[in-house]
Parts: sequence; C-alpha cells; structure tokens
Amino acid sequence: MSGVKPRLCTKSGCQQAAIATLTYAYADRAAVVGPLALRHEPGSYDLCGEHCAGLSTPRGWELIRLPLDTAEPAPSHDDLLALADAVREVGLTWDDPGATEPGPQPRVSRRRGHLGVVADLDAAADTLEP
Ligand SMILES: [Zn+2]
Repeated sequence: MSGVKPRLCTKSGCQQAAIATLTYAYADRAAVVGPLALRHEPGSYDLCGEHCAGLSTPRGWELIRLPLDTAEPAPSHDDLLALADAVREVGLTWDDPGATEPGPQPRVSRRRGHLGVVADLDAAADTLEP
C-alpha cells in the first residue's frame, strides 16, 4: 500500500489508470484536456490514454488539448537499455583480442627492421646473426 490512491479513468466500465484530466469550461463552451490534475475537482474528469485520444465534445463546443507529459514518469528505461548495450559492446571489444587469439604470445619482437620491434633481450640474442 503506497497510500496514494491511483486515479482511474472516469469513463464507466474503464479500469485503466488516468493520464489526463478533462475539464469543462462551461462559460467558454470549451473542453480542456491536459495533464492529470493534482487533485480531483468537481466538473473535471480523469481519462485514460485511450479515452483521451477518442474524446469528443458536444456540438458547438471547442476541444482544447494541452500537451501531456506522459513520457515523464519513466524516462530512463530506454536510456538504461541503451547504456547497457553500449557497455556490452565496449566489453566485447576489450575481450575480443584475448578470446579470439589462442596464442597469447605477441610475435612483434621477431619482426626485425619494422617499426613494431619490441625490445626483448632474449629474442634479440636468438636472432642476432653474423
Ligand atoms: Zn478510459
């Protein structure tokens, strides 16, 4: 129990969570749909996404839709997945050389005359020929 009662769509028979609030401005003959109101007020109706999208107003009334910040509650899920993918790719890149090369010995030191020569006294002694 969180103590906060979830607001449900006020359409009869609808049990979905409300994401928007519809308020009738009778004086202006306008219906305003906006983000879920902080508290339920007389003359306002909470709507789920489905009923909000399919909303219709009485003839002669104007329907005003305010932008809904529906993406607000869970902004980081996709970001976390993308981050996990990125980390995994980096990890594979780092693991690749060791995983694909069965022989861990680098042969760079044997290449004499190339820029890749690594100072290795034993190898140098072996390949040192008159
Ligand atoms: Zn509904």
